[in-house]
Amino acid sequence: DPDAGLEALEFAVTRNLTAASAARREEILANPGFGTHFTDHMVDICWSVRGGWHRPRVQPYGPITLDPAAAVLHYGQEIFEGIKAYRHADGSVHTFRPDQNGRRLQRSARRLALPELPVEWFIQSLRELIAVDGDWVPSGADQSLYLRPFMFAKEAFLGVRPANKVAYYLIASPAGAYFTGGVKPVSIWLSEDYARAGKGGTGAAKTGGNYASSLLPQAEAYENECDQVVFLDQDRNVEELGGMNVVFVYKDGTIVTPQSDSILEGITRDSILQLARDRGHKVEGRAVSLDEWRQGVASGDIVEVFACGTAAVVTPIGILKGHDFFDEQPVGELALSLREELTDIQYGRREDKHGWLVRL
Ligand code: PMP
Repeated sequence: DPDAGLEALEFAVTRNLTAASAARREEILANPGFGTHFTDHMVDICWSVRGGWHRPRVQPYGPITLDPAAAVLHYGQEIFEGIKAYRHADGSVHTFRPDQNGRRLQRSARRLALPELPVEWFIQSLRELIAVDGDWVPSGADQSLYLRPFMFAKEAFLGVRPANKVAYYLIASPAGAYFTGGVKPVSIWLSEDYARAGKGGTGAAKTGGNYASSLLPQAEAYENECDQVVFLDQDRNVEELGGMNVVFVYKDGTIVTPQSDSILEGITRDSILQLARDRGHKVEGRAVSLDEWRQGVASGDIVEVFACGTAAVVTPIGILKGHDFFDEQPVGELALSLREELTDIQYGRREDKHGWLVRL
């Protein structure tokens, strides 16, 4: 463990003197939506080639001042994470498998030639923010506080090389129930003209450019009355949606999910697959071609298809649509039952057998 023996960082805390009033906060938490309201504070840690990680701070939430030549604005050397904090019935606040997000941030950092933040410090940054902004964790059904750690090249330099100065930040945004009025199957547009990732590219890293390149195909999905896009690789194997992994359930109970080094390895998917294994399902990570998907649905071999990720947890896929086809997808019970088991663990309603929860 490269983090063994690390000392806790000493964060300098500057309180926000113009924090939202309790009344305003409660008003926001009653109807938070997603990604538009932010808590009163943020965390930042600096990194430089000479000094390593230094100056960990908690400070009032607010604009970041950047030199116009900051490398991130030109070459996109940036990575991020997404993880939630959940309020339990007894008032305590927990997060879910933060070590996994911390390790994924390190893998993303390696691919983008950014410095690796020790996992211990990543988790500590979550704790420091919750220590000052814990009241922002909502307590309504299916609500959470969405935590957004991110890291970028802030050195002012127009040459193309890894930046010598980097910043890590953590901000938080209260999130309402993704589905109001019950989980609704999503319709998926097959992107045939645009790819998300290529062999040897950045598909497995959580970096802004992957999401920028998904915007045009996502717009194409909307034009075709679909909610989300699914991307293929160069061999017409299924990769993932713009922000969720895909899972197939076969008639014999086998669960199959695409595996490749250009897919973002979802922590929701990993957890759902573990819960399925616990129930006795056989789980396979392997290439799944578009033909296998379409033929499997047509023959009845595939009995359920769903997508999973932190934001929406698990959503059945109801329709797969392409330029010249429209395939209705079979509806099953497994996706919703795994969703319920996972959210029960996250919200403290069911025993956490795998030790996934971390109290903040
Ligand atoms: N794929 C992509 C491209 C994503 O952005 C996400 C969301 N982080 C996922 C899959 C699902 O990952 P997770 O379950 O860790 O949220």
